[in-house]
Amino acid sequence: MSQEKPLPPGVILQRDGETLAVRVTPPSGNLSGDALEKMADLVRIYDVPAVKLTSGQRIGFYGISRDKVHALCEAMPFRTGGHYVQACPGTHWCRFGKQDAMGLAEKLEKEFGSAQTPAKIKFGISGCTFCCAESRIRDIGLIGSPKGWRMFVGGNSGMKPRIGDELARNLSTRQAIELCRKFIDLYTKTAPAKQRTARFVEKMGIEAIKENLGIPLL
Ligand code: SF4
Repeated sequence: MSQEKPLPPGVILQRDGETLAVRVTPPSGNLSGDALEKMADLVRIYDVPAVKLTSGQRIGFYGISRDKVHALCEAMPFRTGGHYVQACPGTHWCRFGKQDAMGLAEKLEKEFGSAQTPAKIKFGISGCTFCCAESRIRDIGLIGSPKGWRMFVGGNSGMKPRIGDELARNLSTRQAIELCRKFIDLYTKTAPAKQRTARFVEKMGIEAIKENLGIPLL
């Protein structure tokens, strides 16, 4: 009996019980004309019934049959699956921006996009306190201020919403990436499989996390 090829990462079954959805993750939500043209071609070639933006700045392709899904994913200009980093335009474009949200998002995506963790991690990177990238309700949120980045952990907008706890402030971009790494390491070593950071931070407590990571209490 021939074994069915496993689905590509991040591909999920739809409510009809047959077709699949593919979600791709453009780093920091940035799209070039070439990438848009490539995806438009793929929609026509594979006769994709529906395309929709997701809440996390990804692009969803819906109603894909099993016989097309592998070829479609392989041809996509962006990866499917993994963690995703949502970012606002920050100092690239926005007049309110205090920090380079898109630049940090691209670095985080590169460093941690495919990291093995107990559950998925959603990042939200906002260039200022208006917090357009929903940083306070993401697993890891960074918010730009004139003195650097403020970092929040354990946020979630799901079934049991939670506002993230502040882990540190006035971080340079390098320090922010380093602290993300330390937090993700701690989470990966400590949390059971499938536990999101909201429950992990709730259980361990932000003060214990800070102590563990060697962060002075605010
Ligand atoms: S969070 Fe601030 S910098 Fe980012 S888009 Fe909103 S107002 Fe602009």
